[in-house]
Amino acid sequence: MMITKISKTFRWEMAHRLPFHDGGCRNIHGHSYAVTIELTGETNSHGMVLDYFDLGAIVEPIIKEIDHSFLCDNSDFEIKTFLLQTGLKAVFVDFPTTAENLAAWFYDRLSDALMPMKHLHKLRVVVSETERTTAEVEGELRLLPQATISMEHQSHMLE
Ligand SMILES: [Zn+2]
Repeated sequence: MMITKISKTFRWEMAHRLPFHDGGCRNIHGHSYAVTIELTGETNSHGMVLDYFDLGAIVEPIIKEIDHSFLCDNSDFEIKTFLLQTGLKAVFVDFPTTAENLAAWFYDRLSDALMPMKHLHKLRVVVSETERTTAEVEGELRLLPQATISMEHQSHMLE
């Protein structure tokens, strides 16, 4: 069976800070972010792993949500209070806003939407904050055949 990969890159502007950081990242600052979504799978009868338009329809609402916002770690009380008081655009998350965690956040949200598409095998998410840095998360979207078999065994055992 032949496996094919496709990818699409999305860009947005966002502010954040890392309160634990000893250097410049402690300060409020922004990045011109990019995220590349890579999908591995089988092509359908139209010769597509997934229509780029359909991939955009899944990813763009997330980009819209975070574009020109402050990505705020809920434990960063001072900044959270300020953002809530001023009503400035913000997205609140329960993790330090590193590129690594942001990649995992994208992965979780996208895998929920992509999991039902049975011909997709793998999802890889690459986030870059700067031209020279990337952080990536990768995982299997489809249950392996062995896992399906063991689930069947379990349901037999329950009967
Ligand atoms: Zn930063």
